[in-house]
Amino acid sequence: MPKGQFLKNFRLSNVFILLIIVFISCALLICINFFTIKILSANRAYVNGESHYSKGQKDASRHLITYLYTKEPDQWKLYTEELKVPQGDGIARKTLLAVGDNQVARQGFITGRNHKDDIDDIVWLFVNFKNISFLAKAIHEWEEGDNLIDELFIIGTQINAKIKYNVLTTTDQQEFLSQISNISDKLTINERNFSNTLGEGTRKIKSLLIIANIIFILIIILSVCSYYSIMVKRLLASKKEIEIKNEDLIVVNRELDRFVYSASHDLRSPITSLKGLIEITQLEDDIDQIKDYLRLMYQSLAKQDQFLNDIIDYSKNKRKQVIIEPVNLSELFDEAISQLMHIENANKITFTQELLVDQIQSDGFRLKIIISNLISNAIKYADTSKEEMFITIKTYAADDYKIEITDNGIGISDEFKDSIFEMYFGTNKNKGSGLGLYIVKEAVENIKGNISVCSESTIGSKFTVTIPKPHGI
Ligand code: ADP
Repeated sequence: MPKGQFLKNFRLSNVFILLIIVFISCALLICINFFTIKILSANRAYVNGESHYSKGQKDASRHLITYLYTKEPDQWKLYTEELKVPQGDGIARKTLLAVGDNQVARQGFITGRNHKDDIDDIVWLFVNFKNISFLAKAIHEWEEGDNLIDELFIIGTQINAKIKYNVLTTTDQQEFLSQISNISDKLTINERNFSNTLGEGTRKIKSLLIIANIIFILIIILSVCSYYSIMVKRLLASKKEIEIKNEDLIVVNRELDRFVYSASHDLRSPITSLKGLIEITQLEDDIDQIKDYLRLMYQSLAKQDQFLNDIIDYSKNKRKQVIIEPVNLSELFDEAISQLMHIENANKITFTQELLVDQIQSDGFRLKIIISNLISNAIKYADTSKEEMFITIKTYAADDYKIEITDNGIGISDEFKDSIFEMYFGTNKNKGSGLGLYIVKEAVENIKGNISVCSESTIGSKFTVTIPKPHGI
């Protein structure tokens, strides 16, 4: 996978993970809050139920004592009715412990004067959390309370029996009163413990809820911040990318403008000179003069042809994809030299090849453009005043492949050295279009190589092309 693609996927998966974290945290936060509110609401219902339990037990005790001393049947009736409240809760507790949630347990809680809307929460908390420490402790207190209620019930039955059979003595009254008071005192302790235990549990749950909320909110805030920072970084990166692309587009546009302007001019000039030559040839009778004009016409057309070839190379070089393949350098040099032999004076030049590297891995099409243009220039700018004209081609391998093309031509004066690779730069418009070295430079850049020149006016020039070796070689 390309590095850019991998980084993109990695960043995408990062964003995805963050979104999942936020989603899970929100879901957990909602669940925790929902269940905590349910637990707290059930706790409130228990405390409420306990107050009915306690009131029922106290009223039942009060009516029983009154009945003990007044023997009024109404008091007995009121006693049994009030006692049903804690007894109902007791039945519910025993049923829930034995068989879980069922109608008998629910009816018990209704008898215990719990609100019907609270029954679901009360049963749910009992069934699911009866083993959790605070509730287990509260249930234990409740059980002890129920045992005392049973005792109160037995005492009530004994008092009622004695009153019915008229055998109740003052001593019995004293004895029963003391027992009832004793039970009431014990129940008060149980009821208080029950409420305190539930209160303690509620406070603990509240603290846990606050901590859980803080943790999850922090996780959500951090994840959202990271998500936004990744998005902002990505936006900045794509903004930068667009800016770079815009700059490239401006450069390309400028190049295109220049190209169109110069191309139209350079395409016209050979046609104009051709038209002029044809006109004067029509008026000429001297056969030698006509031959001379025809030679000039041929030169004009050859120049036009060269220019069109350069334009084709330029366009192909821009568009064609780089293909790395085995390339035979000596074949490329031989082919280029033989194709360039038509250039004036080419046959007077001595070509030497010292190829320490012949077969390389690179883009054949680009290498052809590079080699052909460099040899063509070496021929075109040969110094005909020199007795011996030579062009030496060397190849060797260091960290990269190197191609050196050296000539003893006219050389390049210092003032032009910085400009020779620019588009349409040429010192002699009769010899070329000024596109050659520009195309060479583009082709070298396309294969991630490098080109340098070392030249001295009247002595000669050496062009060195560096071609990177493909990875793994
Ligand atoms: P042109 O089509 O004019 O040859 P190039 O881009 O190929 O355009 O070359 C630009 C200029 O660089 C030439 O006009 C010439 O002045 C100089 N030049 C290139 N190669 C050589 C060389 N081997 N010897 C001397 N001058 C050279």
